[in-house]
Amino acid sequence: MKSKSIIVIGAGIGGIAAATHLAKRGMKVTILEKNSHAGGRCDRFSQDGHHFDAGPTLLVMPLLYEAEFAALGVSAREMLDLQRVDPTYHLVFDDGSRLALTSDMKSLQEQLEAFEPGSFPGLLRYMDEGHRHYHVGMEKLVNRDFRKASDFFDLRNLSLAFRLKPLVNHYRNMSSYFADPRLKAAFTFQDVYMGLSPFEAPATFSMMPYTELAHGVWYPKGGMYSIVEALMQLALHAGVEFEFDASVERIEVNRNKAQGVVLTDGRHIKCDTLLANADLPYVYKDLLPQDGQAERLARKRFSCSVVSFFWGVDKTYKELNPHTLFLADDYRDNFKSIIRDLDLPANPCLYIHAPARLDPSMAPEGQDTLIAIVPVGHMSENGEQDWAQIRDRARQHVLRRLATLGITDLEAHLKFEVNYSPLSWRKRYNLMKGSTHGLCHNLTQLAYFRPRNRHSRYHNLYFVGASTHPGTGIPTALVSGRLAAERIMDEAICD
Ligand SMILES: Cc1cc2nc3c(=O)[nH]c(=O)nc-3n(C[C@H](O)[C@H](O)[C@H](O)COP(=O)(O)OP(=O)(O)OC[C@H]3O[C@@H](n4cnc5c(N)ncnc54)[C@H](O)[C@@H]3O)c2cc1C
Repeated sequence: MKSKSIIVIGAGIGGIAAATHLAKRGMKVTILEKNSHAGGRCDRFSQDGHHFDAGPTLLVMPLLYEAEFAALGVSAREMLDLQRVDPTYHLVFDDGSRLALTSDMKSLQEQLEAFEPGSFPGLLRYMDEGHRHYHVGMEKLVNRDFRKASDFFDLRNLSLAFRLKPLVNHYRNMSSYFADPRLKAAFTFQDVYMGLSPFEAPATFSMMPYTELAHGVWYPKGGMYSIVEALMQLALHAGVEFEFDASVERIEVNRNKAQGVVLTDGRHIKCDTLLANADLPYVYKDLLPQDGQAERLARKRFSCSVVSFFWGVDKTYKELNPHTLFLADDYRDNFKSIIRDLDLPANPCLYIHAPARLDPSMAPEGQDTLIAIVPVGHMSENGEQDWAQIRDRARQHVLRRLATLGITDLEAHLKFEVNYSPLSWRKRYNLMKGSTHGLCHNLTQLAYFRPRNRHSRYHNLYFVGASTHPGTGIPTALVSGRLAAERIMDEAICD
C-alpha cells in the first residue's frame, strides 16, 4: 500500500510528537514550520554566553513524560539528563515571610506550622485529594480522546462530578485545609498555568500542586529546549522531514476535504491528511475559509499572557534560587486585573528563574542568566493596551521585588535585556491574542467541550497542541500528539 502523505503545520511539541508517531507507523510526514527552528513556544535563544529558555522553565508531571516517551519507544530518563529541583519554588510573600516548597516533609511541616499552627495535617489531606484528582483526572480526562458525545456523556463518568470536584471552586475549597491566605495562595497559584484564576478554577486542579510535590519539578541539563532536541532526534530517526522558514499562508480546501497548503513563498503543497499544530483559533481565523467558526472561537475564553525579561548580568546573584515566586497579598485582585481588566495588576505576583543555579553552563562563569515572568492580560480586541508602558511598569515591579531580597544593583550589572510582550508571543508563534497558553481550561472548555481535534467539515484536517484536548503544557502537548496520531491512523487512513 502506498503510504499516505501527511503535512503538519508547525514544529511545536504536539506537532513533532504526532509526526513521530505517524512516521513510525509508516506515514510520509513533512512538518512545515514558519520559524527557522523547531520547538514553538518551547523556545530558546543565547546571547553573549547566556542561554535562555524563552517559554517553559518547569518540567512538571514527570510521569506523563515517562509514559509519552515510552509510547515513542524510548525512556525519558535516559534521553533527558534530569535533576529534581527541590525545593521546587521559593515563595516570598508581601510581609517578607518565605516558604520553600520541598518534598522534605519534616522541613515543610516546620515551615507550615510557623505560618499557621495545625496546618500540616491540612496539607496532608489536601495532598490526598490532589492524589485522587491527579490519578482519576489522568485516566478519565487527560489520557483519552473524546471523539463523540457518548465518549464523555457516559453513565460511568457521572461519578466524576463527585470524585473530581469540578463544580467546587478551587480557592473556596482551600478553606477546608488552611485558614492563612498565604497558604491558600501557595497551593493554588498553579491554576494560572491553566489560564485560570483560583477564584474560578475547579478544585480538580489541586492535581497540580500535588504532582509538583509528590512527583517533583525537574530540570533537564541544558534547559527545557533539550526536550525539543530529544523529540527532533526521534522524529528524524522515524523519517519525519522538516522544512523551516516555511510559513503556511492558507489551507486549500475543496468541498469536504483539505487538499493541501499554500505557503507565503507561493508554493502549493498537496497532501492526503493535514494536521495543524499552529494555535487552533489562529488556524480557523487565518488559514481556513471563513464560515463563522473563527468568530465563535474568538469569543471563547483565552488564557492570560506574560511579559518576560531575559537578563544577562555580569555577576552571580546567589540570593536567587532556581525558581522564586513572589505572591502578592492582593491575590484576588491580581487575577481580576489580569483576567477581567486585561491589565497588569497594581502589585503583581511574579516569577524569577535563575537556571545557572541548576546548570552552571547556562551563564558564563561568575555571571548570571535571569528570567523574570510577569503575568498580564492577553491582548484586547480594541488594541488599546499600551504594551511599552505595561512592560516598563512590569520591570519596575520586578526590580522592586528583587530589592526585598537585597538585590539593589541589578541595573548596574545588566549586560543586556531582551523582553517579550503579548505582541511578541503573537508574532513569533501566531498565538491568538498573544495568549501564552491558548484557550483556557474552564469547565466549558475542557475535555469534550474543548474544540474537537478533527474539523467538522474537512474530515482530513486534524488539530494538535495547547488549544486542543487535553490542553496546555509540554506533557499534555505530548499526549495531544499521540491522541491526534491515533485518530488519524484510525480514521484518515481508512478513507
Ligand atoms: C511563557 C510560557 C511559559 C510556559 N511555561 C511552561 C512550563 O513551565 N511548563 C510546561 O510544561 N509548559 C509551559 N508552557 C506551555 C508550553 O510551552 C506549551 O503548552 C507547549 O509548548 C505548546 O505546544 P504546542 O504543541 O501547542 O505547539 P506551539 O508551541 O504552539 O507550536 C506551534 C508551532 O506552529 C508554528 N506556526 C504557527 N503558524 C504557522 C504557520 N502559518 N506556518 C507554519 N508554522 C506555523 C509556530 O511557529 C510554532 O512553532 C509555557 C508557555 C509559555 C509561552
